[in-house]
Amino acid sequence: MIRAAERVRVVVIGAGQAGLSVAWHLQRAGLAAGRDLVVLDRAPGTGGAWQFRWDALRLGIAHRVHDLPGMHEMGLRFDDADQTRPARDVVAEYYRRFEEHHDLRVRRPVAVTAVRRADDQDGAGALVVETRDEQGVAGAIRAEVVVNASGTWGTPFVPWVPGRDAFRGRQLDTTGYRDASDFAGQDVVVVGGGTSAIGFLLELDGIARSTRWFTRRHVVWSEDPALAVGAAVAAVEDQDRAARAGRTLPSIVSGTGLPVSPRIRRGMARGLLEAEPMFTRLDADGVRTASGEHVHADAVIWATGFRADLRHLAPLHLRTESGGVVVEDGRSSAEPRLFLAGYGPQASTIGANRAGRRIARQVLAVLAPDDDTVD
Ligand code: FAD
Repeated sequence: MIRAAERVRVVVIGAGQAGLSVAWHLQRAGLAAGRDLVVLDRAPGTGGAWQFRWDALRLGIAHRVHDLPGMHEMGLRFDDADQTRPARDVVAEYYRRFEEHHDLRVRRPVAVTAVRRADDQDGAGALVVETRDEQGVAGAIRAEVVVNASGTWGTPFVPWVPGRDAFRGRQLDTTGYRDASDFAGQDVVVVGGGTSAIGFLLELDGIARSTRWFTRRHVVWSEDPALAVGAAVAAVEDQDRAARAGRTLPSIVSGTGLPVSPRIRRGMARGLLEAEPMFTRLDADGVRTASGEHVHADAVIWATGFRADLRHLAPLHLRTESGGVVVEDGRSSAEPRLFLAGYGPQASTIGANRAGRRIARQVLAVLAPDDDTVD
């Protein structure tokens, strides 16, 4: 273990929506950013995972991006933002202004490589956050509480399918997709039943030579906004049950269905969104469908979702036999000084916002257990 030279009260890992929301609430409660409260992010710029999203993604194409708490007092609202600019740029700019306005002093790029329990005598109960900066210099910070808000972008999930290594074309996951023009004139297979897959299929229309869409689950479209809201609530409850039980998290989309926007309806009318059952294998130049057809492919895009990026928490041994971690109301059950913001039921921009308040309140209770003015 590296010796921790710096001692702080709280380290927040990740400056996306979840991390910034928690940090803002803690700062408002009196913790000094940069001294009591340190926010670390391994990415070079502001915006959390949004800074890496593809060129064509615009705010409002898929879901709504909720404002951070503290944005309104600055007169900033995503609903008023320019919807013609890439969401990547708009979110990065808004978060930058947010961080500057509130003087949150995020340290970046600083990657957290490990979180461990302090093992020295006076470290009883503290956690040590090990880091690596841009120059590869290792560091360590001792914290009374760690809030992990590392999102999912770093751990895209790609299912195992026979022949994956045999395919000689290009394979990429959602994090590698930049622009439809990269696939001009190509036969493209898109895999995945979520909004990213649909976005890619719509963008590739008229640019790729052909597209085919394969999903592992039957695609359920959601036409009725009222039913969609009910389904979303049920899907979040499902996530919560899984997090509390330490199971791997179910897909949100499998619970909510895919909302049919006017853009999606136009794509359906053009025959672009006909999902086929998952293919059975890849070979050198394509895929073999469940009905035995060989589909030629120059590229396979795996838009097959993400998993929580918790690799740096491995030294805490949080994983259960069911493959998840036990998280109740944003707090790890196995390590009470660790909070997971934006995890499971909190994994949307609105969920991450709410998490900020709830987690900050619990963090303050850990820092000052006898202070009953903390509500
Ligand atoms: P992130 O934004 O991923 O932030 C995590 C931060 O942690 C990153 O900045 C990362 O650099 C940092 N980090 C990770 N690991 C480490 C480490 N080891 N050390 C240091 N730093 C680290 N939600 C919506 O509500 N509306 C939408 O329209 C929407 N669209 C989406 C589109 C796509 C393609 C995807 C994948 C997700 C979308 N979501 C949407 C979900 C959305 O991304 C999240 O709700 C929210 O933005 C996630 O915020 P976060 O803070 O949890 O994670």
